[in-house]
Parts: sequence; C-alpha cells; structure tokens
Amino acid sequence: MPVDRLAARVGSTPFFAYDRAMLTRRIQLLRDTLPAGVSISYAVKANPMPAVVQHLSGLVDAFDVASGLELRTALDTPMPAARVSFAGPGKTDAELAQAVAAGVTIEMESETEAERVVAAGRRLGIRPRVAVRINPDFTVKGSGMRLGGGPQQFGIDAERVPALLKELVHADVDFLGFHVFAGSQNLRAESICEAQRQTVELMMRLADESPLPVRYLNVGGGFGIPYFPKDEPLDLAAVAANLRALVEGSIRPALPDARVVVELGRFIVGECGVYVTRVVDRKESRGRTYLVVDGGLHHQLAASGNFGQVIRRNYPLAIGNRWAEEARETVTVVGCLCTPLDLLGDNVTLPPAEIGDLVVIFQAGAYGLTASPTAFLGHPAPAEVLV
Ligand SMILES: *Cc1c(COP(=O)(O)O)cnc(C)c1O
Repeated sequence: MPVDRLAARVGSTPFFAYDRAMLTRRIQLLRDTLPAGVSISYAVKANPMPAVVQHLSGLVDAFDVASGLELRTALDTPMPAARVSFAGPGKTDAELAQAVAAGVTIEMESETEAERVVAAGRRLGIRPRVAVRINPDFTVKGSGMRLGGGPQQFGIDAERVPALLKELVHADVDFLGFHVFAGSQNLRAESICEAQRQTVELMMRLADESPLPVRYLNVGGGFGIPYFPKDEPLDLAAVAANLRALVEGSIRPALPDARVVVELGRFIVGECGVYVTRVVDRKESRGRTYLVVDGGLHHQLAASGNFGQVIRRNYPLAIGNRWAEEARETVTVVGCLCTPLDLLGDNVTLPPAEIGDLVVIFQAGAYGLTASPTAFLGHPAPAEVLV
C-alpha cells in the first residue's frame, strides 16, 4: 500500500505499521531453511503488539515471554500454555504465581528463583513446569549484544547446574530441560554456528550427568538483520546446516524425543515494520538543511542510535510520498524532542522534501515503540497498525 494512503487510513502521524504478509513469509523462510523438527519460538519482547502476537500464534510453535504482561498477551492467543516459556531475571512472586497457575514453562534464572518457584507451586497446589537457564561458560563473538562467558544476571552458571539438578530431584516440579541464550543481533553465521556447537555440547554434557530426564533444549538464537549499508544479511542456510548436523549427530542419538527450540525476535519481526513520521518544519541553519518530523526517539529510540549502539549510524529511511523522485538533497532529519540526541538521519541524501511529506524509517518492526521512552516530553503515543 502506498505510504500516503496508509497514512490517510491510520488518520494521524506518527505511526508504526507492521506487514502481516511479510511476517508470514519470514516464518515460511525459517520453516523452509531450518531442519524439520526444530521448533520456532517467538520472543514476544521484540514486538508485543497483541495483533502481531496473535498473527504469529498461528505460525510459530512457541512463545517466549519476559514479563507478566507479555505472559497475558501470549495467553490471549490460541497458543497452548505448554508452548509458552517465561525467561528473564527478577521475576516477582506474583509473576511466578501467574506462570505456575497458567502452566507455562518457567526458565529459572537463579537458585533462589528455583526455591520461589517451588514455593509458588506448593501454595497453588500445582506442579510447576520448569527449565534451567544456563549462563554458559563460553562467549560468542560478533554479537550485537554478548551474553555469557563471565558473570551475568542471566541464568545459572553452568558449573552450578549439576548441584541444582540434584536438588530438583526432591522438589515437586516438572523438570523439562535447558535454555541458553548466548547473544543477539549477530550477522555472522560462523559465530552463530560456533555458539550453537558450544551450546549443544554444554547441554549434552549436563544432560548426560542429569539425574532427571531432559526433554527440552532451547538453544537460543541471536539471528541478526541488516540495518546499515555495510551489513550483509545472515547466511541462514549455513546456520541451518550446522543446526541439522548438531541435531542429527549429537542430540538425537542421546535424546531422541527432546524438543529442540530456537528462539527468535528481531529476525522474525524487525524487517516487517516501518515507523512513519511527517515533516512539520524544514529549516536552514548555517548551511545545513533540517527536516523536523513529528516523531522521534521517544517512539523509535533505536533509530536515533541510543539503544545500545556503539557507533551511531542511520537506519534506512525514505520520503514515503516521493519514491520515484531523484535523491539530490542532503539533509539532517531530526525528531521533535528538545535534545540533540533526537537525530533520525544524519546527512542523508533524499528527494527534496517539503512540510507535510512523510519520512519513513525502515527496520522498525522490532525493539521500536516498547523499547523507547514514550513518556519523555509528553507527546501523544503513536498509532500501531497491522496491515
Ligand atoms: C531478547 C531475547 C530474545 C530475542 O532476541 P532477538 O535478538 O530479538 O532475536 C530471545 N531469547 C531471550 C532469552 C531474550 O532475552
């Protein structure tokens, strides 16, 4: 749909639009490439819009949630509770009780959390379904966000897992297996393959010593998407071939029935969304042309470079109502907040834009609205639509 028609349909700017057909194609790509029998779990925090989660519930095998609210969003869809896992540090007693009552799998992040899960189960008279999130003893290179290898707030240190499993033998819990999440936004297939090899090796070693049967192996994900001109898309086929070799060579011989899961957020939704803003001012300042738009970092923090980026680079953007026109003007696109951090496009060459034109920011489907400081400066919330 042309962006100006979409904007008219939404009725106001700024807004986020997510593409249903693209989401479907994205899952189809994963199905066509990943080994059969590997489950795909969607990490809801990447984009928790209820309509998106609802649409994906018919396409993926599982959901991973990270808060009580995300848990409710997941449970509002047809996804069975047994296919929802709840990870994340600092789960409150109320969230644990919610999770136990719903029958979702709790990915335990510490020994004390394990004790609290057992207590919640006892209080409710329900046997909690649990898995152990492991803080791996290796680290992954090439990841936008690196997890594991040293001390961290996520998961239980690998070397302490055997002692916890011994305790769990006597606890009234339904132990399913293990979860490792070693990093995020990784575009290098070799480093994802290496992480998967080390993850499976670690899990198989722990499963071999485990006094409890292991039926669930969540091997993480971290599949990245290209944001910047020099980024090459991830070689998904290479990752899939490596995973197939691990499943067939290492996992199946020892654990023929274990459910193997990859857990993805950004790779599924990131490319399926745009953030659309309108030019409210066009001004010159000492030789530089500024386009001032009605959105900004309060809705799309990542595009301003302030969501964990080390070097600020421009997200891809375009003038949505001037696709056919030649890019022949270099401008700086800024948001409407009173801070120089609210920079959306630094020295970008675009078709000459006027007040009222639409600036479209791509790759806005993941970690957009809910990863942004929406209350900052008190501007209205943007609309979100699934089209
Ligand atoms: C955030 C998160 C994900 C999703 O990461 P993406 O980079 O969006 O794929 C998956 N698993 C866990 C445990 C997470 O915390």
